[in-house]
Amino acid sequence: MNQGIVVASANGAIGLPAAIDVLRGGGSAMDAVIAGIRLVEANPDDHTVGYSGLPNMLGDVELDASVMEGRGLRAGAVGALKGYQDAADLARKVMETLPHVLIAGDGARQLAAELDFEPRDLLTPEAREIWSQRLHDDADRDASYLGRVRELVTASATDPDFAGIDEIPHGTVNFIARDRQGDFACAVSTSGWAWKYPGRMGDSPIIGAGNYVDNRWGGAACTGRGEMAQRCLTAHSVVTFMRCGMTLDEALEQAMNDLAHLDDPYKSEMNIVALDRDGNPGAASTAKDKTYALMTEDMEIPEERPRTHVHVPGT
Ligand code: ASP
Repeated sequence: MNQGIVVASANGAIGLPAAIDVLRGGGSAMDAVIAGIRLVEANPDDHTVGYSGLPNMLGDVELDASVMEGRGLRAGAVGALKGYQDAADLARKVMETLPHVLIAGDGARQLAAELDFEPRDLLTPEAREIWSQRLHDDADRDASYLGRVRELVTASATDPDFAGIDEIPHGTVNFIARDRQGDFACAVSTSGWAWKYPGRMGDSPIIGAGNYVDNRWGGAACTGRGEMAQRCLTAHSVVTFMRCGMTLDEALEQAMNDLAHLDDPYKSEMNIVALDRDGNPGAASTAKDKTYALMTEDMEIPEERPRTHVHVPGT
């Protein structure tokens, strides 16, 4: 029997004890990642995920999320979901109840209502204030709507002080678990890039881009500029590189190096957390001094570890 392990992006630490409790009780990796990610989606202090996430250009909070199982590669995802906090739970329902993988917009909302998910106004006064201040103070009023989207998104990607808050105005939470039975599961949830164009979906709901797991080779999940991971299928790349014989560290580095080839004027940070097929954790970032979190069954509290820094020109 394996010892359970859960890795997460650093903002997932608050959900790790709940996730590991599921594994300690003999529960599945999928139940564990959902138990953990729910707490992050409910966290009012995290403006990058779920409730209190920063809104899109129109002031609407739109959530993206996905889940995947390493046995049989079942997956589910929701995109541009409004009015419901539990995006990862809903992604799981897509996987379990529909013959589809990804449901977006009104359809996602309809599914949540049909399944009696709890509706919630996701925009908190604090998130609204951050959104409104930057939108009205900094955007060039003469620019076209598209020009303003570009201006805000670019500034939010490149200037850490942009939003006037301690955190950058985008982010995501990743959870990957391996349970006692050796099954892997992964969950990713985000409110995406603040001031994004309405309906924009990042890498988080795209299986292979922001999230991929396969019992045979391990799993990976991303945070950072989703358009880059979408174009390189970064999470799937990490898993494929391990399949081709690379170690976890080599696979992370190779997946990051691929991003260097992107022609992308908005190139910015990318972060990956991963588990190899034996349940060994690893994580990388194109930025320095980044961390991730993990917990095994024998740990009392989550452990924060440094990510390997991979320099990618332009990020
Ligand atoms: N990956 C997310 C997105 O592109 C944002 C982030 O993680 O910073 O929506």
